[in-house]
Amino acid sequence: MNPSNSELFEHAQRVIPGGVNSPVRAFRAVGGTPRFIARASGAYMFDAEGKRYIDYIGSWGPMILGHGHPAVLDAVQRAVAQGLSFGAPTKRETELVEEILGVVSGIDQLRLVSSGTEAAMSALRLARGATGRSKIIKFEGCYHGHADALLVKAGSGLATFGHPTSAGVPAEVVQHTLVLEYNNLAQLEEGFSLHGPALACVVIEPIAGNMNFVRASVPFMRRLRELCTEYGALLILDEVMTGFRVALGGAQSIYAKQIDGFHADIVVYGKVIGGGMPLAAFGARRDVMQQLAPLGPVYQAGTLSGNPVATACGLATLREIRKPGFFEALAARTRSLVDGLVAAASDAGVAMVGECEGGMFGFFFCNALPQNYAAVLATDKDRFNAFFHAMLERGVYLAPALYEAGFVSSAHSTADIAATVDAARASLRR
Ligand SMILES: *Cc1c(COP(=O)(O)O)cnc(C)c1O
Repeated sequence: MNPSNSELFEHAQRVIPGGVNSPVRAFRAVGGTPRFIARASGAYMFDAEGKRYIDYIGSWGPMILGHGHPAVLDAVQRAVAQGLSFGAPTKRETELVEEILGVVSGIDQLRLVSSGTEAAMSALRLARGATGRSKIIKFEGCYHGHADALLVKAGSGLATFGHPTSAGVPAEVVQHTLVLEYNNLAQLEEGFSLHGPALACVVIEPIAGNMNFVRASVPFMRRLRELCTEYGALLILDEVMTGFRVALGGAQSIYAKQIDGFHADIVVYGKVIGGGMPLAAFGARRDVMQQLAPLGPVYQAGTLSGNPVATACGLATLREIRKPGFFEALAARTRSLVDGLVAAASDAGVAMVGECEGGMFGFFFCNALPQNYAAVLATDKDRFNAFFHAMLERGVYLAPALYEAGFVSSAHSTADIAATVDAARASLRR
C-alpha cells in the first residue's frame, strides 16, 4: 500500500519545516492536508493515493501547455543527454533570450537567472545602480519574491517608509521602500511629490496575481508611467506571473494598446519562460543592462544561471505558445471557465465575481471586483475555504488561498471546464 497524503505530510514535517519547501503548499490558509503529488499529465495531477485532480495551479503558472507536453519532454530529454550544467555559455541561452526579445517591445537585452525572486532582486539592484538613487516604491498586495527590501508593508504615512513583513529583515533594510495602495492615484501623486527625485524605481505587478486577480487601472498605469518619466525613476514591470501568460507580449502589450507610449524600463520574467524548470530573467534597454557585470559596476551572477536543461524546457515551451491562435484559444477556454463559475454561483444565490486575461483568472466571493489588497482581504474567506475543499473533494485543484490567481493550460479541454463548472454547481449548492 502506498502511504497516504497525511502519512507523507507527517513524515515530511519531521524533516522539513512545515513539511513543505514553499509555505503556501502547506494549506495553512484553507486548513486540511496538502496533497502529495505523485505525477501529472496534461490538465491532471494525481496524488499519492491515486486520486485525480483537474489542475488549476499549473505549478503556480509555468505549466501553460499542461503537464508533460511531448515537445517539451522531448527537448528536455535531449538536453539532459547532452549534459546537466556547464558553467560556461551555450548557444541555447542566446536562442531563448532572442525568443523572448522577439515578442516583447522596448527591451534590448536580458539576463537569465534561476528564480523570480532572484530576477526581481537583481532588477532592483540594477535600477539603483543605474540611477544612483536608493528609494523605491512598491504596492501593497504585490509580491516580487522574497528579497529583503521587498518584504515590507506600508508604514503609518506617506512620509514614512515601510515595516518588514518577515522576521530577519532589519528595519534599516526596508527604510528606502515606500509602500503605496494599489490603484490609488492620490497616494501615487503624493508619494512622487514627496520622494520623486530620490526614487530609483517603482516596481509593480501590472495585473496583480498575488492578491488573486487585480488589474492596475489604465489611468493608474498611465499616470505611473508619466511620473516615472518626469522624475527619472525606472518603471519595473514584474511580469513573472503575467509574462507569456496573459498574452504573448505579457501585460505590457495589453497596457500599450490602451496607453500611448506605454513601456517598462525594466521587465522581470519567470514562471512560463522556464516551462516548469527553474528559470527567470530580467531585461531593459541596452544602456541600462550594460551597467551589469562584467561590463558595468552592478554585480550579479549565478552558478546555474541559463542552465542548459532549463533553457531547453523554456525554449520548447515558448515555441509552442507563439504558434498562431494559441492565446486566442487559451483565453476563450479561460473565459468559459470564469463565466461558468460566476453563473453557477449566481444560480446558487452566492455572490461571486470573476476576472481573467489570457490563461490567468481569479474569482472572489463578493459583489464587485476588488481594486486593492484591503478589498481582497474583505472578501468572504470562510466561503472561499469551504468552496476550495468542496472542489478538491470533487477532484478540482484550485489555489489553496484566496490571495492566489488560477491558471488554465492549453491541455484543459472543454470537457474539463464543463466538469469543473459542474463541480462548482454542486459545491456552491452545498
Ligand atoms: C512567483 C512570483 C515571483 C517570485 O518568483 P519565484 O520563482 O517564486 O522566486 C515574483 N514576482 C511575481 C509577480 C511572482 O508571481
